[in-house]
Amino acid sequence: MKTILNFLKKIIKPVLSRGQVSVQNEAGPATAHVKIYTRAEHNISRAQISENALKVLYRLQKEGYEAYLVGGCVRDLLLGREPKDFDVVTNADPDQVRKVFRNCRLIGRRFRLAHVCFGRDIIEVATFRGAGEEQNDKQVLNKEGRLLRDNVYGTIEEDVWRRDFTVNALYYNIKDFSVVDFVGGMADHKTGTLRLIGDPDMRFREDPVRMLRAVRFAVKLGFKLDEACEKAIHNDAQLLASIPSARLYDEALKLFLSGYALQTFEILRHYGLFQVLFPATENSLAIEEDGFPRLLLIKALENSDNRIAEGKTITAYFLLAAFLWEPVRLLANKKMKQGEIEFVAYQDAASEIIASQIRSTALPRHISMAMREVWSLQPKFNARIGSKPSRLIGHPRFRAGYDFLLLRSETGGGDPELAEWWTKYQHASENEQRKMTQPPRNPQNGKSGRKRSYQRKATAPNPEV
Ligand code: ATP
Ligand code: MG
Repeated sequence: MKTILNFLKKIIKPVLSRGQVSVQNEAGPATAHVKIYTRAEHNISRAQISENALKVLYRLQKEGYEAYLVGGCVRDLLLGREPKDFDVVTNADPDQVRKVFRNCRLIGRRFRLAHVCFGRDIIEVATFRGAGEEQNDKQVLNKEGRLLRDNVYGTIEEDVWRRDFTVNALYYNIKDFSVVDFVGGMADHKTGTLRLIGDPDMRFREDPVRMLRAVRFAVKLGFKLDEACEKAIHNDAQLLASIPSARLYDEALKLFLSGYALQTFEILRHYGLFQVLFPATENSLAIEEDGFPRLLLIKALENSDNRIAEGKTITAYFLLAAFLWEPVRLLANKKMKQGEIEFVAYQDAASEIIASQIRSTALPRHISMAMREVWSLQPKFNARIGSKPSRLIGHPRFRAGYDFLLLRSETGGGDPELAEWWTKYQHASENEQRKMTQPPRNPQNGKSGRKRSYQRKATAPNPEV
């Protein structure tokens, strides 16, 4: 096999500039055609490429190295979209890249990369990754076939097989502004198809996160998954459970903070991927209570998509609090039936649900703390008499807690009159606020009920919790 690959390496280079060639590769499909799309045959113009990315590409070229844009940026430029970032690949190894740029640092353990920094703008420069021929030493797979370490440098012809989808494997060559396509990525781009390079089952086993990437790109680009990829996801969804929870947390954020959270949620559920990320939420969705449990989450997803569309910010903890609210609420109800008082039941339920969630996706401490605060504010909104409302309004998470109260009341899980009261209270003058928080008058003697309520509080459990 090694001799065949070496032979292919020799023949591909010269033909690259001439047009098409057939290549056999054990990681890729049986036959692939290398096609060069000249500047006239595609719509990527240098005006769309960031100045800093162009500087890096030209500089590498000037130093005698090959330099290409690759990945999401080429895919997005072809669609006329502004790329999130510009990734460069080269045949220079990281140390050589460092020598070319003063403003450069090397990062990464699994695969060393160079970051060329222009103030806050960073251009990532990777060295071509090698093919699987040295699999025994520098590439490490675990027993399920997952890639653990991958530090082999290679050529562009090898690098292409390491990439996930054909549309992510197009190379924009700074030398002649052509697009180099080894895997039919341009054709898939035109038809809006996400197709894995190589055998889908094998590629998902190597890195199950590719299933989440498939969904993310399908939603973001409006592309459809090709049939083989779809089938493999249905079979392989459970493989995601083997991925470290910190990586799944990062991927979950990318999925749900993308501006297409609702659609992403539906598709993840369709493929059985959502239950691996949020098992407790998935279980709670099966428990229908007048149709409202699903509504809260759906409304939260919809709201955050709308906020992004309006250019507003969204916070991860608020959405995650919505994901886990039903599991927390159901567990708290169970605990109350067993005799726990409301406040304690919610605290305990929150701890248990968070502890079980972090087995799937990590939750940084500041995130889980903020989620707990949003939840624990909910019963506190019931206290409308005396000084409690004015104290509550000063709580650092008041705004998030109030937004969550609105979400609950809009979806049948909270009292709309209570939510309206808090809306009014926030906008009222000090004088009006004082009136709003006075105890109701006793209809018999016309006096304020304040004293009685204090007396009651001294002898009965706190009614607000
Ligand atoms: P985005 O618009 O989200 O940045 P992207 O395609 O650029 O999309 P990145 O995570 O930035 O995604 O990765 C850059 C490129 O690296 C991808 O286009 C793909 O070619 C390759 N890549 C990234 N992650 C993987 C993976 N898990 N398996 C295979 N190839 C990958
Ligand atoms: Mg990218």
